[in-house]
Amino acid sequence: MATAQTERVRALDARHHLHPFTNHVELARHGTRVIVRAEGCHLIDSEGNRILDGMAGLWCVNVGYGRAELVEAARQQMATLPYYNTFFQSTTPVAAELAERLARIAPAGLDRVFFTNSGSEANDTVIKLVRYFWNLQGRPHKKTIIGRAYGYHGVTLGAASLSGLQPMHPQSDLPLPGFEHVRAPYWYAEGGDLDPESFGREAALALEERIRELGAERVAAFVAEPIQGAGGVIVPPASYWPEIQRICRKHDVLLVADEVICGFGRTGRWFGSDHYDIRPDIMTCAKGLTSGYVPMAAVLLGPRVGEAVATADEEWVHGFTYSGHPVAAAVALENLRILDQEGLALRGAGPAGRRFADALHALADHPLVGEVRVVGFVAGLELVADKHARRPFPAARGVGLACREHSVRNGLVMRAVRDVMVLAPPLVISEDEIDELAGKARLALDLTAADLGVG
Ligand code: PMP
Repeated sequence: MATAQTERVRALDARHHLHPFTNHVELARHGTRVIVRAEGCHLIDSEGNRILDGMAGLWCVNVGYGRAELVEAARQQMATLPYYNTFFQSTTPVAAELAERLARIAPAGLDRVFFTNSGSEANDTVIKLVRYFWNLQGRPHKKTIIGRAYGYHGVTLGAASLSGLQPMHPQSDLPLPGFEHVRAPYWYAEGGDLDPESFGREAALALEERIRELGAERVAAFVAEPIQGAGGVIVPPASYWPEIQRICRKHDVLLVADEVICGFGRTGRWFGSDHYDIRPDIMTCAKGLTSGYVPMAAVLLGPRVGEAVATADEEWVHGFTYSGHPVAAAVALENLRILDQEGLALRGAGPAGRRFADALHALADHPLVGEVRVVGFVAGLELVADKHARRPFPAARGVGLACREHSVRNGLVMRAVRDVMVLAPPLVISEDEIDELAGKARLALDLTAADLGVG
């Protein structure tokens, strides 16, 4: 893109475009990077720089950029039927096919599907569904929904209330009443002297304690990501999920898995619930469902909630204009075919996943890296001031942000969550690109260490 054109885009953007999760004063100071094209695992900016996308957009472009099959699926569907709704006793072939396909790949029993446009809408739908379910059961006091510290479930009023990332609440007077949060299984930061497995059990027991305090007859559901993504790739110890499931069953609390990041191959299995052997009552998914080519998300219901809604014999008063949008459904179907036929959904659990894990674990020797957490194709590198004491840098030093800037400037998109450097590349990443990613990550770490006078 010519320089004058880039400048025009920047000027229009600065004057008229509000960005998500952005300090606009800082944005104005630094200016925006204009991304104009992408192919495979690489982005191309308006100055012609090729940048390895270590985040698959926002954890979503699972099949990589530039897939002609997805373009063709969208084109054909737009030409045949660009839109029709699924209200008023109508459906479309692609929406029905997609619901069946999702039921087939989801963990056993999750076989009723409701479509939304975003993960936030999917989680808000869950909140309404959970309330409706307990009303139908004649237990209207069972209403409190428990999320976790560091949890991210979206930005709409309900999803943000459910989220436990503290900065998301005060600007809009959240959380709404009826939401509680318990601790995360974040061993590295909070495990103290406990070994990870003991800490995993302890973190799970915090849920049981909260249920007891509130009274099980008031607790409707527990909502959690199998691996917490936006909270800093918090990988639970193996002891955590079995204990959580025991607690939910014992107290008759619905278990909801937010698979918005973990779904569609991110962990090396179709869903994070498969990886951890979680049997959720409800699951939400988005992102990798369409590899981000068009917006679409879904809520999958197991038999208990699914039957209750499907047999209530009254109108379920909920739904979006674009629920089951045919173009999104057509793209999703083709995307799921690619994930399956190219072996991408399981690739993170095979040799390519091991290479990714090995390449990142090799960074554990770096003086800034306290812990490397990898599952499938999602990873977090936790940067700390003292590796032996697991002591973080003061937040105000902005070490993660500095590292992110070095990384992007040197051709790798790596995200910073506090001082955790996060990676979640497209699942098509080649072995050479894995090496490129690890090499560029190390360079960014070295430059950050040099700034800090470490190493
Ligand atoms: N849940 C999780 C686990 C997420 O990571 C996200 C987005 N990063 C959401 C929900 C919200 O999805 P959306 O941005 O599509 O509303």
